[in-house]
Amino acid sequence: MKAVNNSYMSENQNQIIKPTVAEAPEGISGQGFFATSLEKAVGLARKNSLWPLPFATSCCGIEFMATMASHYDLARFGSERLSFSPRQSDLLMVMGTVAKKMGPVLREIYIQMAEPKWVIAVGACASSGGIFDTYSVLQGIDRVIPVDVYVPGCPPRPEQIIDGIIKIQELVGNESLRRRSSKEYEDLMKKYNME
Ligand code: SF4
Repeated sequence: MKAVNNSYMSENQNQIIKPTVAEAPEGISGQGFFATSLEKAVGLARKNSLWPLPFATSCCGIEFMATMASHYDLARFGSERLSFSPRQSDLLMVMGTVAKKMGPVLREIYIQMAEPKWVIAVGACASSGGIFDTYSVLQGIDRVIPVDVYVPGCPPRPEQIIDGIIKIQELVGNESLRRRSSKEYEDLMKKYNME
């Protein structure tokens, strides 16, 4: 496997690659200095310190447990600090079948999270209801909250969940500091009947 970001897995398992530090953003460097924009510096800090809130309701949650454990080790991406309080997290990870009755609960949790916040729908159930095309199952969490990244699979493997995290990191690192006060974002919130 190719070493990505702070990964220490190697193509040759006998060869140990030391964890690398986060890549510096674009900027100007010279002897003894490095200059970049505030937006890029904030993006760098945010993307490497995401605090996930695992909203796990069924089997996909088990794959997330494997993703957190030593073999896959989400700490390599700065996301080992899980939060079960929406007020101290910025990445909502929804994993599993979400019943329609749980919809308002999920929405409330999303609203309680402080801005900026991002959402990953992990697995077929969270993304689209999966195989449960029934009266009681929400046919995708984007019916009640906005979603930034969808991870396919039933269940997705930990590698796919990590891929979802990397996609979120790309989004976070490149997001404008003004996005949350933009008209586009305001319209998105209005669509979900949120402020
Ligand atoms: S997508 Fe598959 S593995 Fe994940 S919660 Fe649904 S049924 Fe379970």
